[in-house]
Amino acid sequence: MLSSSLLQLEPPTPAYICPYEQACSYLEEAAKELKLDQGILEVLSHPRKVVTVSIPVKRDNSEVQVLAGHRVQHCDILGPYKGGIRYHPAVTLREVSALAMLMTWKCALLGIPYGGAKGGIALDPKRYSVGELERITRRYTSELIKDIGPAVDIPAPDMGTSAREMAWMMDTYSVNVGHAVPGIVTGKPISIGGSRGREMATGRGVMLIVREALADTAQSLVGARIAIQGFGNVGSAAALLLHQAGAKVIAVSTGSGGIFCEDGLDIPVLKAYAAQNRKSVVGFLQATPISNADLLTLPCDVLIPAALENQITEDNVNQVQAKIIAEAANGPVTLLANQILEAKGITVLPDILANAGGVVVSYLEWVQGLSYVFWDEERVNKELEYLMVQAYRQVIQQSKIHQISLRLAAYTLGVGRVAQALSDRGLYP
Ligand code: NAD
Repeated sequence: MLSSSLLQLEPPTPAYICPYEQACSYLEEAAKELKLDQGILEVLSHPRKVVTVSIPVKRDNSEVQVLAGHRVQHCDILGPYKGGIRYHPAVTLREVSALAMLMTWKCALLGIPYGGAKGGIALDPKRYSVGELERITRRYTSELIKDIGPAVDIPAPDMGTSAREMAWMMDTYSVNVGHAVPGIVTGKPISIGGSRGREMATGRGVMLIVREALADTAQSLVGARIAIQGFGNVGSAAALLLHQAGAKVIAVSTGSGGIFCEDGLDIPVLKAYAAQNRKSVVGFLQATPISNADLLTLPCDVLIPAALENQITEDNVNQVQAKIIAEAANGPVTLLANQILEAKGITVLPDILANAGGVVVSYLEWVQGLSYVFWDEERVNKELEYLMVQAYRQVIQQSKIHQISLRLAAYTLGVGRVAQALSDRGLYP
């Protein structure tokens, strides 16, 4: 098993599924299928740069706390590094490194000229005031100032962060360099150069891929029964768009629990409820409570894990009754569970395809920012649909030609393109 010497900071604990080793396993599988040169595999198995910074923050009660912030830059062979910033208590350097690698393959799969990166701070945003979060974000940005830039590394929102944090990052970077630099982040507010359609983009991409996959089984979105774990940025946008397209979203959940309604939830009403209820769906009157564990095993046409990694594991995979799993979250299905699902003939739409809508519109935001020409939402959504559907068809074709799973097909396309570019550029010196 390949693993990076740069990632020795955190010794793994027993029974721990190492996300970086999982990511390397998928890479190795793709490399085997592609008959990749060993030297190229070796290069791609290691992040190019790993940065960990201390973030001292003065809490509102004057106590000083020091947090650890990471930024991992996996590969910039195709263009500037690109990847989200995650605020979640479970953030580790290994997880951030795995997610950075996934971003490299995702961008290459979608044909976007970016490399992969990811950042994160292990904190629970709910336990910090807005002022504290602003101080943390600004200090984190300032510590990374030499490692990021519009032509170098462009952060975006991920779990626990949003347009608000991107605005603080953009402002901190701009003040430090002495002029406004909108291109330093994507997913920022429209008032400072954000793109229309960005907020819903990942969810829209999920909806498009689910639509295509159902169409391939001669099923329409209309009336399709869908369960969604996670009702944050991605889960709630996917739920709304699927609901608007006529699907029945029968269950959704948040960290505090889930809800179920056989006839389909009224998603616009639920969104308004969650907004008033500290982002939780628990207690929604027109539904019955359901646990996160039970949601994952509901009989349905499509299961969309849109929260955390490692939700479908060897422990619960045999209870999964969905016909299609669309990985809106990154890495929600473990390696072993994935093998079992493949053997059972359950379609898994892999994360690097299913949740790529966010990075596609981030790219469109960056392009608009560089050209100083801003598009209406219809144009953004049209470009997004074109790129998502094109990538989906390429993955299906690759899977059919080589008789491989959709995940391996997506990986071979992504990894293959990066490997080709690496081979064409050559090794320096
Ligand atoms: P978010 O913070 O907006 O929402 C996360 C949701 O998951 C919340 O509803 C939260 O309550 C729920 N959740 C947390 N812990 C849970 C648990 N134990 N069980 C069930 N639900 C739980 O985050 P997001 O931006 O929607 O990201 C979700 C996933 O999608 C992550 O894996 C992220 O990497 C991935 N992703 C996000 C984007 C993006 O544009 N935001 C793009 C690509 C991939």
